Amino acid sequence: MADKMNHIERAMAGLTNEPVDRLLAYPLAMGVCRRLINGTGITYQEWVSDPKKFAQAFIDGQRRFDFDFAIGLMDLSVMAGDLGAHVRMDEQNTPFVDEPLIKDLEGYEKLEVPNIKDPKTRSYVLVEGTGLFVDALGKEVVTAAFLEGPLLALTQTRGAEFVFKDMYDNESSRKAVHAALKTITDYDKEMVKAFAQKKPAGLVWDYLWGSYSCLGDTEYMEFEGDHKYAGCLNELVQKEGMANCIHNCADLPHLDTQIKKWKPAIYSMAYYPLIPGSPSAKETIQKGYADVSLIGGNIDPQGFVRWKTEKMVDMTKKLCNEVITELKARDLGGRYCIASGCEVPPALSTKLENIQACVDTTKQFGTFA
Ligand SMILES: [Zn+2]
Repeated sequence: MADKMNHIERAMAGLTNEPVDRLLAYPLAMGVCRRLINGTGITYQEWVSDPKKFAQAFIDGQRRFDFDFAIGLMDLSVMAGDLGAHVRMDEQNTPFVDEPLIKDLEGYEKLEVPNIKDPKTRSYVLVEGTGLFVDALGKEVVTAAFLEGPLLALTQTRGAEFVFKDMYDNESSRKAVHAALKTITDYDKEMVKAFAQKKPAGLVWDYLWGSYSCLGDTEYMEFEGDHKYAGCLNELVQKEGMANCIHNCADLPHLDTQIKKWKPAIYSMAYYPLIPGSPSAKETIQKGYADVSLIGGNIDPQGFVRWKTEKMVDMTKKLCNEVITELKARDLGGRYCIASGCEVPPALSTKLENIQACVDTTKQFGTFA
């Protein structure tokens, strides 16, 4: 069936819990779309170093796949790298921190907010590149910036196992962790304000550590959920005129805090069928979370590499049916976006035809008729 709404009409209907012609579709294909640039693709290093090239991947991705959103995820080492951690940059893999910056308690205290106006920083590339794709696509799809939350940026800068140890080791290590989180929150605030100048419709936080496999409610509230960290950042995004959104692909996400308390416009999540308690799309909708936020999820990102296209079609179809049944049972509008649980692997082995299949299958089988 041909679409009856355009991308923005459909996304706005989903965001305001109104009826849609079909479910929204946005497999989180970001870095992988660099393979479309110039017909033959460019390397990761080129993609993350030049705002124009960064933006071009989103533009070319939109032309090829016809998504309902454009969300500017680069990778999760942007902030750590600009804070001073060493980032390994392979030709065709996601950049990652291979040499943490913080090596002792003093290191936490010595963190400084980088100058994000310096064109040599990736923060600058990210902000400017986001502005360019917002200009190019903003009239066609709902756009959003993407930013690491404070605790994620800290674990990238120090190494997660050390941060989790330092949180509880003793009073001075705990204080040091808080000192670093304060600096990174200030850095996040500068990024939010810089993104706001570029006028994306929303900003998506990666609040990955709101996960019961890592932190309980009390711990999560102390080290990220507190008003002085995520609380005030969520408010700032809205104050700056953007819709506040959250991505959390952890196995056991803190849905009551991150959805019911913070009420993001969009909440993007993953599903781990082998982990007891991991919330499926069905449970997420049944428990009322789609009443609060537009939920995005939850196709296994590895499926875009491993599955034959027929299997991608089957899995997408199955998810569409599950979601439509549950949305109807709760009398909701288009409150679910068929998406991958996390970024589609940006590898050369990712099958571009599976991204296409996910979108096309949603168009065909995600209808509300
Ligand atoms: Zn993720």
